[in-house]
Amino acid sequence: MKTAKIPATNQQFPIGKIVCLARNYAEHAKELGNETPVAPVLFMKPASSVIGDGETVRIPSYSQECHYELELAVLIGKQCRAVSAEKAFEYVAGYGVGIDMTLRDVQNQLKAKGLPWEIAKGFDTSCPLSDFVPAGTVPDPHNLSLKLAVNGEGRQDGCSSAMINRIPEIIAHITGIFTLEPGDVILTGTPAGVGPVRAGDVMTAEIEAVGCLTIPVA
Ligand code: MG
Repeated sequence: MKTAKIPATNQQFPIGKIVCLARNYAEHAKELGNETPVAPVLFMKPASSVIGDGETVRIPSYSQECHYELELAVLIGKQCRAVSAEKAFEYVAGYGVGIDMTLRDVQNQLKAKGLPWEIAKGFDTSCPLSDFVPAGTVPDPHNLSLKLAVNGEGRQDGCSSAMINRIPEIIAHITGIFTLEPGDVILTGTPAGVGPVRAGDVMTAEIEAVGCLTIPVA
């Protein structure tokens, strides 16, 4: 069982489902040659994909191209179903740093065939996740800088202000489809600058006022 922790309040939640947004930053959608969607594009990672700070991403043998995608993670603290955007923040317990590791070659093959993405997105170690900070300590989650470096070299440098669908709308949309429960996590999409990592690389990720991750790759 994987656990989401909020050290500042001593809270712990068993991680449930991880609901992820694709193409939620226009510049990133463009860099992959995708259209900017009107409604959020959703997929999920299993809780078993989570690793913590300092743990290692292991690239599966069936891929030659594993990409990082730095994302603001939202931890749900209370069960919610069909909530309005106006009430959505009431259900957010905290914010964290997530990396949506993606086997881009495998995903592209699946996309071309119209097949689901799980084996490209949900493999073991595909979801590095930091501890969470209490939601109340982040005054504006839509104005945070997101930076990811590989071996100390900057690769992603974005701001959560560039999200297409914002957190309240995301929660309203998701809870119209899936009930969200305490310990569920939302990954809110990645800014531009995604790219590959190889065995031996080390990723460092930081989201302003939220936290950091250092994740080796093997
Ligand atoms: Mg992503």
